[in-house]
Amino acid sequence: MNSKYLQEDVRRAIRILRKSCPLELPLRVRSVTQQEFKRSWKGEYPERGMWGDSYYMVSESPGASYVVLRIARTGPIEAILDTLFHEWAHLLDRGPFNVRKRHRRSWGISYSKVYDAYERAMANE
Ligand SMILES: [Zn+2]
Repeated sequence: MNSKYLQEDVRRAIRILRKSCPLELPLRVRSVTQQEFKRSWKGEYPERGMWGDSYYMVSESPGASYVVLRIARTGPIEAILDTLFHEWAHLLDRGPFNVRKRHRRSWGISYSKVYDAYERAMANE
């Protein structure tokens, strides 16, 4: 897990979600700079910057598939955490890989589960 460059609050949130909202596939977390986001999103890179994204690495070999969660190294912590929850919800709401409507109802339910799990864990700390 290459997350040593992430802010401590982000690392803590990832620890909480790994425990309370486990994913089906192994998770690889990567910390990403804005330059790296820009390079990989080219024309789609938003002006306000990017705080995270996620994708599947699906393999035919059994046990070799995993999911990647990329999170910004620097930036406003609220935006980064919101993005982390948003992307985690996508990874929970797996469904068909080429699903057209990405922010569908089941994604929204996952999003609320992630937020709730995080808020509960923080309240108990
Ligand atoms: Zn989304």
